[in-house]
Amino acid sequence: MSREVLIQLLYIVAFALFIYGLMGLTGPRTAVRGNWIAAAGMGLAVVATLLTPGMGNWWLILLGIAIGTAVGVPSAKQVKMTAMPQMVALFNGVGGGAVALIAWVEFRESHGFDGSPAHVAVASLFSAIVGSVSFWGSLIAYGKLQEVITGRPVGIGKLQQPLNLVLLLLALVCAGVIIGGGDAQLLIIGLLLASAVLGVMVVLPIGGADMPVVISLLNALTGLSAAAMGLALDNTALIVAGMIVGASGTILTNLMAKAMNRSIPAIVAGGFGGGGGGGGSVQGSGDQTVRRTSASDAAIQMAFANQVIIVPGYGMAVAQAQHAVREMADLLESRGVSVYYAIHPVAGRMPGHMNVLLAEADVPYERLKEMEDINREFARTDVAMVIGANDVTNPAARTDTDSPIYGMPILNVDESRSVIVLKRGMAPGFAGVDNALYFDPKTTMLFGDAKSSVAEVTEELKAL
Ligand code: NDP
Repeated sequence: MSREVLIQLLYIVAFALFIYGLMGLTGPRTAVRGNWIAAAGMGLAVVATLLTPGMGNWWLILLGIAIGTAVGVPSAKQVKMTAMPQMVALFNGVGGGAVALIAWVEFRESHGFDGSPAHVAVASLFSAIVGSVSFWGSLIAYGKLQEVITGRPVGIGKLQQPLNLVLLLLALVCAGVIIGGGDAQLLIIGLLLASAVLGVMVVLPIGGADMPVVISLLNALTGLSAAAMGLALDNTALIVAGMIVGASGTILTNLMAKAMNRSIPAIVAGGFGGGGGGGGSVQGSGDQTVRRTSASDAAIQMAFANQVIIVPGYGMAVAQAQHAVREMADLLESRGVSVYYAIHPVAGRMPGHMNVLLAEADVPYERLKEMEDINREFARTDVAMVIGANDVTNPAARTDTDSPIYGMPILNVDESRSVIVLKRGMAPGFAGVDNALYFDPKTTMLFGDAKSSVAEVTEELKAL
């Protein structure tokens, strides 16, 4: 078997592993295994690429692998689940940056694509523009989520769109001159710089609340730029892996935007949300008052209920309360109470966030109910316990046409006979808007960290 055939065979096995691994990612039970399978596929693709004739500079390659491993493995191990979106932004951004740099190297090596077929020049320059936008845009998205820079929209008003258009035209003009035979280094540097500023300028005016969707969009763009680079380099692995990332990123972006009832152009136009809230004071606005409850009252209320629905949100992830919640639910069930979990598609900070946390705590899968299924149940539920969820329960999404979350499908928590909300204070959720649910006469608030509050309720249940 020739080396070329061996390389292609290895690539085919790698692609099969990517696709099989991706299928595993569709459910919490198989997700970890799916991740390992896809990673093994990527390992195989790297080996196949290293077998390519003409591969040299082994010390440089090994140094690159060593640095990547030393940075990537500890940061992936240490990252908190709640910080996963910014981690994805960084990893994804680096991919886009790498593609842009490869395009630059190809430009230098071929003296401005002199003598290369037209599709090689076009695909490389497309990769350079999109990869650079993706790298710099992802860095800004990371900064916003990590609160290194403000999560609020930062823009220059009406001039924003014309400026972005000028930057895009500048990059395209550089690309056009290169395709026309220009080989000056300034041209490719100008192209990369214009795209870099464009990436920054597109993401800066977008509010923190939309950042996860933006990251998913940039992820899709990185995939497309890698696929284009694969075309230019005639590398099948890059084409297939890039298209898988591009396609899955596009599907994910659409799903997230749909679950938030927002269009992707509206998100990119910017201006929504200002990042997560902090502590916040315990008071209503105007003459509105909130009713506090205690762990013992909450325990009594739930112990004598027929049906309880637990509504988890981002705060449960922050508090890492999932194991405590499971213990509380077990106790309730042992007393004959039916307990279900209402899962909103964008609860938390990434798709499937709540499923993953609850699966980690071994909550039986059949107890988790998707929004469409559980919404019918609230009207016949005695107690809905909201644990660190806010926006996904906000009735303003149904009634207040001026609200930034108007139109987002929500969990109909307010239809249940009583509601207990566990959060630390009156801080708003990610969209930065107040929640009328907290002032509803049938709602009581149990203030404190979700994990401690749930543990206290559990102790009270044991004592009953
Ligand atoms: P929210 O961000 O609306 O609210 C979370 C609440 O948790 C806050 O009000 C906070 O209040 C409370 N909280 C924080 N820490 C703790 C703690 N330690 N203990 C108890 N409570 C705590 O979360 P939701 O899950 O309801 O909504 C998700 C939001 O994220 C939506 O706006 C959604 O559109 C957005 N989003 C989600 C994406 C996804 O894929 N999942 C993607 C993009 C956006 P307090 O500080 O007072 O405790």
